[in-house]
Amino acid sequence: MERFALTAQRIASTPGKLEKVATLASYFCSLDDADLVAAARFFTGSPFAARDRRTLSVGGRTIVAVAQRVWGFDDAALSASYRASGDLGAALGPLVRPPVDAMLFGDRLTPATLEVLFGEIAEASGKRANRRREAVLERILRACDDSLVATYVIKIITGDLRVGLREGLVLDAIAAAFGADAAAVRRGLMACGDVGAVAAAAKNGTLDELRVEYGTPIGFMLATPIPFGETYGDLAGESWLVEDKYDGIRVQAHARAGNVTLFSRRLNDVTAAYPEVAAELATLSRDAIFDGEIVAMRDERVQPFRTLQARLARKVVDESLRAEVPVAYIVFDLLALDGDLLIDEPLTARRERLADRFVAGPHVKLSPFERVSSFDGVYPELVILSGVEGRGAQDDITAWVNERFEASRARGNEGLMLKRADAPYLPGRRGKWWHKLKRELSTLDVVVVAVEWGHGKRSGVLSDYTFAVRGERGELLTIGKAYSGLTDAEIAALTPWFLAHRLPAEQQRAKARSYEIPVEPKIVLEVAFDVIARSELHESGFSLRFPRIVRVRDDKPPEEIDTIGRVAEIYREMLAREGANGPP
Ligand code: AMP
Repeated sequence: MERFALTAQRIASTPGKLEKVATLASYFCSLDDADLVAAARFFTGSPFAARDRRTLSVGGRTIVAVAQRVWGFDDAALSASYRASGDLGAALGPLVRPPVDAMLFGDRLTPATLEVLFGEIAEASGKRANRRREAVLERILRACDDSLVATYVIKIITGDLRVGLREGLVLDAIAAAFGADAAAVRRGLMACGDVGAVAAAAKNGTLDELRVEYGTPIGFMLATPIPFGETYGDLAGESWLVEDKYDGIRVQAHARAGNVTLFSRRLNDVTAAYPEVAAELATLSRDAIFDGEIVAMRDERVQPFRTLQARLARKVVDESLRAEVPVAYIVFDLLALDGDLLIDEPLTARRERLADRFVAGPHVKLSPFERVSSFDGVYPELVILSGVEGRGAQDDITAWVNERFEASRARGNEGLMLKRADAPYLPGRRGKWWHKLKRELSTLDVVVVAVEWGHGKRSGVLSDYTFAVRGERGELLTIGKAYSGLTDAEIAALTPWFLAHRLPAEQQRAKARSYEIPVEPKIVLEVAFDVIARSELHESGFSLRFPRIVRVRDDKPPEEIDTIGRVAEIYREMLAREGANGPP
């Protein structure tokens, strides 16, 4: 372990990424297979392979107690050392002394032997597990005969090497050490979930032979938003698969020989929450990794996200909740089939294989899609390759997309996904390959309570509106201010109305600025927004991000605007969605 520790120290003290990679690569080159496997894992900050569920579960207090027994330092020495470093490994390292009761034959630590001892710690179980763990830890610490080794061994145990290496750099070092293709190394890790196995395969030229290990989640591919209502000119010139954007929770399903694991967007195992989906996937005849979305679905119809919410709160569900909120897993991608990782194949090929293999059941369905090719031009024309009836083959792309969007909404879905037909599956990436088209988070009907003179080309008109929702006792509570959405003509027409319906200055609202002009609460607006947040800025205690006026609602009296209760409901729904899927 001396060379491991020296390498780690050298990497920690060089700021340059390239130098870190070169140092690590030359260390990797010097190792035999067994040490290489373990050292590569340790350098990613973990005592075991990522796919390995074992953990060490030894806390700082145990480490200190055992270290004290072996090296015989006092508490004051440890406190001083800890204050100086702030890290358990760095604090304990300098306190290494020849063991107080030196044994004749100690262990010789190499990365491989250390990992075997880690395995003994992880596997200790039963009544005497703690004693057993401490005994093995003691053997490990006794074998650390210098400060630097002790420092890094303890850092591995506490799960943080702190040398400034991300997993990506370890992979680069593996590629550099053995002259392997960096992309192949990355792919290898994605397939097998073990950087140690990847290092050994790179060394032996067998990266291609790494098979998919089921049970290790692959990062989710993400989409770039396109604002609704644009001309979608960027889409021209490529071929796209267009499908509904489902409003549920994203799930990656690993199905292998009847064993199914469902992973959430945060890579947590959520299998127990959706037993009906897991049971159906368990009947598949071949092994596969799917990407898709779990939605609430009743009688073949998607239910709104808030229906699914009741299930999100539970880790395990019972019969009655399953009946109350039936779900379906809508599959839209195939990442692996049997031992083969498919992420480098184009989407169309993955989709073909998916359709080939797939037998839909009540709780697992295939997401339908349409394929379109478009050509460049000011008004790009579309050539519809399959499945499109109706408006014909030469439609304007914007009209076509908008029509599909509305159809998706009518089916109860959130919007559209446009995915490049030739796109590989890029885990964890958001880019030009996938676009999502969705409407704002929600809209609220609000009433204008104050107005301001505009700026620039709007300096002669009242264009900035402070608006409010209704409180529990019918009072008006401000929630935001909108500057955009109405046409110049609409604003010009509203200005004289506001001027004629000003309220006296004493009716200025508590949180208003001096330049806000209070007006009679009569003009009802529908405002759209992307995010809702708690905020002290407005009387309601909430604020809206990117509010835009959708229209003036002449048809609605101010008594019927939305209430603070509705605002709180949208807010809770947004939090639940973020909790399950990560931030939007
Ligand atoms: P984002 O996570 O912000 O990139 O937005 C994409 C999200 O839309 C994904 O995380 C999925 O949860 C969700 N989604 C809904 N329908 C689809 C679909 N058909 N294809 C891909 N993602 C989808």
